Amino acid sequence: MDALTQLRDDVAIANRILERAGLSHAFGHASARIAGTNTFLLPTRQSPGLARAEDLLVIDTEGRILSGEGEPNSEVWIHARIYAARADVGGVVHAHPAACVCLTGIGEPHRVIHNQGAIFASGVPEYSRVGLIRSRELGDLLAQVIGSGHAAMMRGHGITTAFADVRRATVAACYLEESASLQLRMLSAAGGDATRLRTFSVEEAGPLADQIAGSVACRAWDYYAELAARNPLGSGQK
Ligand SMILES: [Zn+2]
Repeated sequence: MDALTQLRDDVAIANRILERAGLSHAFGHASARIAGTNTFLLPTRQSPGLARAEDLLVIDTEGRILSGEGEPNSEVWIHARIYAARADVGGVVHAHPAACVCLTGIGEPHRVIHNQGAIFASGVPEYSRVGLIRSRELGDLLAQVIGSGHAAMMRGHGITTAFADVRRATVAACYLEESASLQLRMLSAAGGDATRLRTFSVEEAGPLADQIAGSVACRAWDYYAELAARNPLGSGQK
């Protein structure tokens, strides 16, 4: 399988993971940069659970469709402007996971309270403006919020992750939602008192950066990919 065919498969699988893992339902999307270019692969405007490799669009960082049939998701600017701003980013995920949205709704920042959440030890900044990212300008604004980091919480909306490749961007999105879900449960158990959470120190979190690297990230990707493959949308299984 050549590299572009593999990349198309990865993007389709990444999108189906977002839906099957519960990070998105009708909305949300994952993309991957075509290596060495200012273009990327993005699904057409439909649930990520329905993404197929053969239907992906090729789009550039100015939002122009270079090949493929159909319209891109309306938040195409998230992807276009992050790739424009970050030469080191090869994969972008945007999803609407419930626990992350809940954290933004109570003004609670992401805190590192479990191993996989430690990959976000440098913090997850918030894009506080509500509404969709449907313009180049808003895409640039989101890219600025992410800065040199790897994720942003989007108030009342969802999350965006940006990593070296789409596999890691997808796994990281799953980790972030898992972390947010645990944080909410801990907050609830602690009567809403965030000072009672036993958050990881920077020193504790540092060695856990390997959770999004090498064999650990591969293992997580393989699991989520199989989850999506075994339970395709419409199978009645979740
Ligand atoms: Zn969105």
